[in-house]
Amino acid sequence: MIVRVRFAPSPTGYLHVGGLRTALYNYLFARHHGGKMILRIEDTDRTRLVEGAQENLIKSLEWAGINFDEGPHIGGDFGPYIQSERFDLYKKYGMELIESGHAYYAFDTPEEIDAMREKQKSTGDFKYQRDLMKNSLNLTTEETKKQIEEGHPYVIRMKVPHEQEIVFQDIIRGEVKVIGKEVDDQVLLKSDGFPTYHLANVVDDHLMQITHVIRGEEWLPSTPKHTLLYRAFGWDVPEFAHLPLLLNKDKSKLSKRQGDVAVEDYVAKGFFKDAFINFIALLGWNPTGDREIYSFDELIEFFNLEKVNKAGAVFDLEKLTWVNAQYLRTKSMDELADYIIPYLESQNQNYINRDFLKQVIDLFKERIENMLDLYETTNYMFAKPTEFDLEALKKNWKEETTEIMPKYLEFLKTQSDWTHSPLYEATKIFCEEQNFKIKFIVNPLRIMITGSSKGAGMFETMELLGKKECIDRIEYFWANISLK
Ligand code: GLU
Repeated sequence: MIVRVRFAPSPTGYLHVGGLRTALYNYLFARHHGGKMILRIEDTDRTRLVEGAQENLIKSLEWAGINFDEGPHIGGDFGPYIQSERFDLYKKYGMELIESGHAYYAFDTPEEIDAMREKQKSTGDFKYQRDLMKNSLNLTTEETKKQIEEGHPYVIRMKVPHEQEIVFQDIIRGEVKVIGKEVDDQVLLKSDGFPTYHLANVVDDHLMQITHVIRGEEWLPSTPKHTLLYRAFGWDVPEFAHLPLLLNKDKSKLSKRQGDVAVEDYVAKGFFKDAFINFIALLGWNPTGDREIYSFDELIEFFNLEKVNKAGAVFDLEKLTWVNAQYLRTKSMDELADYIIPYLESQNQNYINRDFLKQVIDLFKERIENMLDLYETTNYMFAKPTEFDLEALKKNWKEETTEIMPKYLEFLKTQSDWTHSPLYEATKIFCEEQNFKIKFIVNPLRIMITGSSKGAGMFETMELLGKKECIDRIEYFWANISLK
């Protein structure tokens, strides 16, 4: 059997991080088993359509490195892959269920449905009461025919066997059992002839020969309905795996209110693709339990649906930031420069030149967690500081400093070797001769040169900035900034 899985999003605007996790698990599973990965667009709910949403979804999936073997953008033997292009099919299958007695016509008006709903209000749960309503189970064949001929609107509902126990296997959750009377007589075809998600989803999964349905836990309550539909059609039931919910830190369902949920927001925030995928892959699964960093190939190699957790997975931004920092530290200066240069250019930031930028990155890569923090932390490397942390400077300013600092400046001017280590050694000797602690030189010096009291190693920073630039900056400070 060749494994065939699908990612079946509804194009409602953007790729949700939960959607990315679902797509990724399908992809890892397909690649692990040498199977096929299919993209199907589930756009049966025409009221929720958003312009450009499909393109946007595909763009985000491509960014993530999730490649499809079949789909609307590449074609395949089982198309069309967009449900709105398959409407005739669903109608045909809906009618087949009427004929086999697994579905029926229902002619209730919206008002009648509302009244029924109202009566059930106290139970908190709404089910279509087929024995009491106007449908082809209660009308004679002639009456039904007449209703249709007279043009009364109708829907087609599934006839759920109330006494039957519906059992299916879930790879993650084991056996799931539901009794028929707990399941609503789901509408399969709406009065405008459009299918509901349930009918279209089952018909397509069958026709597209999907072997494993891997989707979010929120679809678990739909699975008994789907199981019944497969049986009613006489089709094989695919294997199911319902992935754990994604949660906010407070364990509520991941929501926009507590942070970003669109993949594109994380791209814009400067998270690396490989770090983000690594992080997303571990939301509900960990291949070994003692590692957090895996390459894409390792994720494919280790992927095992049976090891996915049942419990919800917390989307922890701090962990994502940590994972991102781990990736940052292993990337080459060229990769990091390639990543950040387009961003700096789009912001009109002067980075001097690529080589200089690479050296700055090298100096700071252990100190930042996200490349977008680079410029903010290091802007003094690219332009003279305009603001100085005088509070911090004064803390390290001794009475003697006023006298020693100009001497040190003159001493610096005589230095021919401006690499960091000799510069440090020379400074050490200078301080010893002056009988002055080196920190009382270095700390004020840092603020004069960079404006800030924090940064990378001072002498490394000076080496990179170059002699002339450092001397210029100290002289500027000396001439223009008052410590009073
Ligand atoms: N269209 C559904 C969604 O938006 C697909 C659910 C499924 O995979 O069956 O997530």
